[in-house]
Amino acid sequence: MKPVVDRPYWDERVETLGRDELLNVQTERVRWQLERCYVSSALYRFKLESVGAEPGDLASMRDFTGIPVVTKEELRADQEANPPFGSFAVAERPTWREVHPSSGTTGNAVNTIWSEHDVEAITDFTARTLWQLGVRPADVVQNAFAYGLWVAGMSVHYGAARIGALVLPIGTAAATERQVDYLRHAKSTVLVATPSYALHIAEYLQEREIDPAALVVRLGCFGGEPGAENPSTRTKIEVGLGLEARDYYGLAEIGPTFASECVAKAGLHFAEDHVLVECLDDQTRDPVPEGELGVLVFTHLTREATPMLRYWSNDYARLTRDTCTCGRTHVRAVGGILGRGDDLVIFRGAKFYPGQVEKVVRAFPELSNEFLIKVRREGGGALVGSCVVVVEAPPAAGVEERLRRALRDELGVTPDIRLEPHGTLERTAFKAKRLVEV
Ligand SMILES: [Zn+2]
Repeated sequence: MKPVVDRPYWDERVETLGRDELLNVQTERVRWQLERCYVSSALYRFKLESVGAEPGDLASMRDFTGIPVVTKEELRADQEANPPFGSFAVAERPTWREVHPSSGTTGNAVNTIWSEHDVEAITDFTARTLWQLGVRPADVVQNAFAYGLWVAGMSVHYGAARIGALVLPIGTAAATERQVDYLRHAKSTVLVATPSYALHIAEYLQEREIDPAALVVRLGCFGGEPGAENPSTRTKIEVGLGLEARDYYGLAEIGPTFASECVAKAGLHFAEDHVLVECLDDQTRDPVPEGELGVLVFTHLTREATPMLRYWSNDYARLTRDTCTCGRTHVRAVGGILGRGDDLVIFRGAKFYPGQVEKVVRAFPELSNEFLIKVRREGGGALVGSCVVVVEAPPAAGVEERLRRALRDELGVTPDIRLEPHGTLERTAFKAKRLVEV
């Protein structure tokens, strides 16, 4: 095992700033952002005027919560009405450097622009979140996040290089065999990937009887989808790849890689000096008390080109502002992202998310890592009339009844179960789609 010793923080002063001081920094930056959005963005000026707000009105952060949230649907409609970049691109055109459309999994992509200053800020806070995860200058970082249009491939590349690590920009195009070749022969010490892909690599090793202990990879930074903080999934990845698995979070519209776990594995720490984090009730849109489940809402504090003011992420989490045992003061989402609004299932009166099915399925060693939840929707919402959990099981594993009981205990309802032979379900190098409509 290689020695990992040095400072615990990328930027100690910022990461351990007192909460009062942090609030002062945030208030000042929100004022700056409101002012420029009001002056230069038709979309935001309309939203601010709709509640009679002007930038100069902001006396405290409490006033700020009166501003309407902005949703992805609004951004999409705005870009369709004002192609190609909508009426929320605020920075001057000559400063623009990169365009990154969102992955468009739920509709037309929304174009996000990074200015020169934005690229620099993203590089710096991604270096911070990677450092927080445990990446150090002596590391060889195998970056299996997709390069190209997806934001996270580029930002991790920039951030890892800023740290001084050696980056292997493999992306997702290479076959799993080549990923494993590089893990073995380039002696990568850090793997950056989606948790679904990490499990696929682990399965590949197992099928070929390659001992994970023979790899020198020591740390996995897993993002693009929740999973690394799901206890069953974390254990499967850590055992299957012989590394320490940590969770990484980002959103195309906000900042690709602006929250990560620290060594304490105590939730996702956000870069709160760059992004203001709120947690709101999904019905009233009022702030929920600390520790309660709500939807994360983000505001850019430093972003120049396409800033977001109160962006409704649709991601559910519980926040704490208690100082972490690692010494960082920035807000944490305890247990990571607990569900996506689009993925909520309401079946026979019970509400659940695919992550809960994941937790159950991956606790069964007889089952493969893959699963699907097939639902038939009733109307346009989360309500479903039928729900089948498809898993891969060896013949005569005798697992069906135990799985049914475990799902009932976790979900409060019993979906139908379908067992398929190993290898039936699709494996992915990117984000897995676990919930499908039939
Ligand atoms: Zn921490």
